[in-house]
Amino acid sequence: MSDAGPLRVCALYPDLMNIYADRGNLLMLQRRCEWRGIGFELNGVGIGEELDADAADLYYMGGGQDRDQELCASDLVEHKRSALAAAAQRGAVIFGVCGGYQLLGHAYQVGDAELPGVGLLDVRTVRSDGPRLIGNVAITVDLPGASDQVLAGFENHAGRTHIGPGAAPLGRVLRGHGNNGADQREGAFSGSVLGTYLHGPLLPKNAWFADWLISTALGGIALPPLEDALEDQAHADARRAAGV
Ligand code: GLN
Repeated sequence: MSDAGPLRVCALYPDLMNIYADRGNLLMLQRRCEWRGIGFELNGVGIGEELDADAADLYYMGGGQDRDQELCASDLVEHKRSALAAAAQRGAVIFGVCGGYQLLGHAYQVGDAELPGVGLLDVRTVRSDGPRLIGNVAITVDLPGASDQVLAGFENHAGRTHIGPGAAPLGRVLRGHGNNGADQREGAFSGSVLGTYLHGPLLPKNAWFADWLISTALGGIALPPLEDALEDQAHADARRAAGV
């Protein structure tokens, strides 16, 4: 057993915010911890439940359809925002995918309705009448300790996200649409809070990023390499699908 960890993960709304097999991201984190002898603990928090700001090293929210997001948005603000903000403050990783990413921002405007977000990322999303932004996507990432690495995955969203001055893009679009199909930016981050539109699920196709999240959530520890032949192949396939 390693001295590091355990990695304590809290999944927000694991039943509602989980499309395109986003749960696979959690399995990937679990396996890569366990293969290294690092303990892994997973908890889920649903509607009406209070969030413990100290109970996890990594808080995760997957994607969802508009109606699922609608069910979660006000609960997130009412019951979980202050704990999430406190967790971010102490350096816990907060990671949102697609619908989860949108709700980490200030708001998701859907027609006349505005779904509130927790405002941990300086981004705002507006649902457009234009076509959904769908397809394979690849980006080069610009994160501390991981610049110029490639993330490859799949996106399917109607919302267009715009980044304000308080956040940086997670990466630059090589292929695909990214945040809004116009500015070549994909995802966003601010300190240890990150969001991306990449589904698929994302982490099994991008093992390096799973390790980046594990290491960052555990305070920046160095992780021993794993035998990654299959993971490298999955990454290469996802890049190929995106044409990169
Ligand atoms: N419902 C949101 C949108 O369409 C998010 C979709 C998703 O999570 N795939 O923009």
